[in-house]
Amino acid sequence: METLEVERIEAVAYRGYFKIEDIEVCEKAGITAYVPKPIRGPAVAQGFFSKEDFRYDLEKDVYLCPGEHVLSPRHFGKSRDNVKIDYVNRDACKACHLRERCTKSFRRVSRLENEAVLDRMAARLADRPDILDRRRESVEHPFGTIKQWMGQGTFLMRRLDNVRGEFSLTALAYNIKRAITLIGVPGLIAALQA
Ligand code: SF4
Repeated sequence: METLEVERIEAVAYRGYFKIEDIEVCEKAGITAYVPKPIRGPAVAQGFFSKEDFRYDLEKDVYLCPGEHVLSPRHFGKSRDNVKIDYVNRDACKACHLRERCTKSFRRVSRLENEAVLDRMAARLADRPDILDRRRESVEHPFGTIKQWMGQGTFLMRRLDNVRGEFSLTALAYNIKRAITLIGVPGLIAALQA
């Protein structure tokens, strides 16, 4: 942001960077983050409905489950530094015809106290699904080229400063190769002289 002299910036990352603490910090710092949510968790691992199958009602502070039952906040705990709230409806689960697809006993859906930050990001991603393709096209290509074509799968140097220097040279070489591909050597020389 300092380099670009702007007060807001967009950051797009792949799902490995999905972490609520970081996304919250981004929001506070004026960084609009776009990070897709990984589909994971014990329920998914067991083949049950994922959390995305449950709809959160912000006004009522409840979840609506795939069986159209209301799950209310019952248990309060901690997840790292965040307050975690479990939403349940034991009676509905007992008599539910979808139970085999949802839980072994009764379903519990957890929500962090600050999870609205993730809801806002999900809404942004739903508005701009193409932004993830643009990240893949613009970011994966250089790294794939550097690792596969330029043979830099591992660093030769050790220690942070040395590795930074090595990667800066690699990035410079990549940028020159790319500029030659796009505008040719005469175009590159003309741009340098301008
Ligand atoms: S098992 Fe419980 S949470 Fe799951 S669909 Fe049925 S009522 Fe809803």
